Amino acid sequence: MNRRSFVRGALAAPSAAVPLSAQEQYEKKTRGLAPLKITDVKAITTSGGRGYQWVFVKVLTSEPGLYGFGSASNVNMAWAVAAAIEKHFGPFWIGRDPDRIEDLWQSTNVRGYWRNSTIHNNALSGLDMALWDIKGKRAGMPVYELLGGKAREAVPCYAHADGRDAQQVEDNIRKFMEQGYRHVRAQLGGYGGGGFIPPGQGSRPAGGFQGAAMDEDTYLHAVPKLFDHLRAKLGWDVKLLHDVHERISPTKAVEFAKRMEQYHLFFLEDALSPEQIAWFRNIRQVCTTPLAMGETFTSPLEYMPLVSERLIDFVRNRVSQTGGITQAKKTAAVCEAFGVRTAFQEGGDNDPINQLASYHVDMSISSFGIQEENHFPEQVHEMMPGAARIKGGYMYGSGLPGLGIDLHEEIARKYPMQVLPGQPHWTEVRGMDGSVVKP
Ligand code: MG
Repeated sequence: MNRRSFVRGALAAPSAAVPLSAQEQYEKKTRGLAPLKITDVKAITTSGGRGYQWVFVKVLTSEPGLYGFGSASNVNMAWAVAAAIEKHFGPFWIGRDPDRIEDLWQSTNVRGYWRNSTIHNNALSGLDMALWDIKGKRAGMPVYELLGGKAREAVPCYAHADGRDAQQVEDNIRKFMEQGYRHVRAQLGGYGGGGFIPPGQGSRPAGGFQGAAMDEDTYLHAVPKLFDHLRAKLGWDVKLLHDVHERISPTKAVEFAKRMEQYHLFFLEDALSPEQIAWFRNIRQVCTTPLAMGETFTSPLEYMPLVSERLIDFVRNRVSQTGGITQAKKTAAVCEAFGVRTAFQEGGDNDPINQLASYHVDMSISSFGIQEENHFPEQVHEMMPGAARIKGGYMYGSGLPGLGIDLHEEIARKYPMQVLPGQPHWTEVRGMDGSVVKP
């Protein structure tokens, strides 16, 4: 009995007549929640019926019916991530208090002793999202409410327009504009598009590589022509983006960013490979083209020199690859201090839980820039009720507590994840002499 309740008792006044202090009200509320424990951890794999390589973490708790989901998807290492969760991380997490998100994040981060491997961070991200999901369900609030509440009404997204020639790219951009998108990424036939010498053509070494070959000079001439066409036909209201996908050498990246300045891009993405990020200084010296970087980053610390020296304008990490909601919120806070914005990565291989994790951070931060679009077939929405929807260029969550999504495991089981053929692999890109080009 504390001093205040003793005094109340001594005065023998009816308890309802003495209002509880704010502190007492809080204590009363939290005492109503039983202590929680993680009782089980499952790695759920599924193709979603569409060839996906999705790995989800399901964290079950001692409160009947209370569980959380997180995304640990990694299209390139999915089976290894599932094994890491089942064999290494799950046993480490079971028995812990799921309310202690920061503490569990930190202990999991050093659980492998060696930090920031892709697989390790997928597992860490999956756990982190699941814990925020649980906390939100306990609080009866969407996760963004726990992160500070809405900083915007919905999340603006950019769409992907592609085409075999400039006219088709223009037509596809117009379709997105009619749907309400204000931001559209334009690619001439996929990554490196416009820069490929067709199979068998050109001067090749005898008996050498005969496939489509990346040539950076061809690319550097083709893409500005595409944007000449787009700006002439579409005007300047639509915000255009372009993704280099690391496929050119550093000096050419400097030249390319300078040549693209006249088209007033919303951002130019991954002009450099992660090995050559020091060259961002050189790009900054010659042009004002806004720069986005980082979908290949795993460690949050990889951003620090780029953000603190203001060498890029947008961080592009995938939330399920870099430590989940906890890390995304911290990265966004650092960005805010340096005037850099977020553009969390999505892509065709991503899953609805990672998308919602990005959404809840996007909704609650001031350093938000844009969110990459991703959408799913209806059968995925049936398997995962509450998945985000994009309407008119904006993403909306379900508004339900936690992440706001569920997963029908019986449907997921109907679509088992497959072991994919080893070759060809999309990351293997080659030049005319058969040498490997960054993907
Ligand atoms: Mg990209």
